[in-house]
Amino acid sequence: DSLANQIAAGEVVQRPASAIKELLENSIDAGATDIKVIIKEAGKTLMQVMDNGKGMSETDARMSLERHATSKISKTEDLFSIRTMGFRGEALASMAAVSQMEVRTRQPQSELGTLLYIEGSELKKQEPVACEPGTSISIKNLFYNVPARRNFLKSNGVEMKHITEEFQRVALANPEVGFSLYQNDLETYNLPAGKLSQRIVNLFGKNYKEQLASCQEETAEISILGYIGKPEFAKKTRGEQFFFVNKRFVRSNYLNHAVMNAFEGLLPEGSYPFYVLFIDIDPVHVDVNVHPTKTEIKFDDERTVYAIVRAAARQALATHNI
Ligand code: ADP
Ligand code: MG
Repeated sequence: DSLANQIAAGEVVQRPASAIKELLENSIDAGATDIKVIIKEAGKTLMQVMDNGKGMSETDARMSLERHATSKISKTEDLFSIRTMGFRGEALASMAAVSQMEVRTRQPQSELGTLLYIEGSELKKQEPVACEPGTSISIKNLFYNVPARRNFLKSNGVEMKHITEEFQRVALANPEVGFSLYQNDLETYNLPAGKLSQRIVNLFGKNYKEQLASCQEETAEISILGYIGKPEFAKKTRGEQFFFVNKRFVRSNYLNHAVMNAFEGLLPEGSYPFYVLFIDIDPVHVDVNVHPTKTEIKFDDERTVYAIVRAAARQALATHNI
């Protein structure tokens, strides 16, 4: 029922940025190579994600709005082992419960697509529609039917900052996918598909190009790949430090410490190096006791992971004569 849906929705969708994260991950899972994001009023009135992925049949589209309707897999333990980002089939149903949602989707092999319009979990309209192959999902007036939550949203500036963070993370994790982002009709990011170094430059600025030390380390169990910024390029805040484990963004003071440690004595007081590092590890070595929507992580052998990350960062600095 709709109240249960609204309550469950609160766990998945806390603010506009959480919806953006779920929509982007669905597009990635659908094999999209091009993703366009449209935001109005920091996502409070409109969030739209359009992709050129595999689309959905009419039945799948209707099914996708049911709670636990995942076409993927379903155990929390599989979080770091499955290759898709989604796995619980809760996101679309949750967003549909607390917004006015429009879905347009077409499989490449179908002539016509499907249009669905849902308000607070209620399917109001379903009809065939001519559209491009792929999927476009619009979320309008998030929390329109949950005033307490709507009032709880922060200023447009703050909510947009959170959206941008989620967008940056997904864009960094998928440089082979093209992205664009429009805010109130203005294009604020245009990221052509390419290499990670190019993605970093397109996201953060041309001046990053000369500041990146490439990082690469591999053992039987784990591989580290990415870039760290040179010491003199360190920032006053931690905002530009990114760890991905098996392509999922994670926060880890422990991993961060390993990188900081590699810089020993090189960093100006109170400054934080830029880094984008991808850790690939056999999922059996990742602690499964993490909440799916949180970004914390635990490894069963933390010390080894620490040592390898530190060694990789040191090596990167040494290779660049730092
Ligand atoms: P999950 O991603 O955990 O499976 P979601 O609620 O996010 O759950 O999505 C439900 C289902 O809807 C997905 O499993 C997928 O089959 C379908 N789906 C959602 N978004 C898209 C998309 N952009 N393109 C194709 N299929 C999609
Ligand atoms: Mg999903």
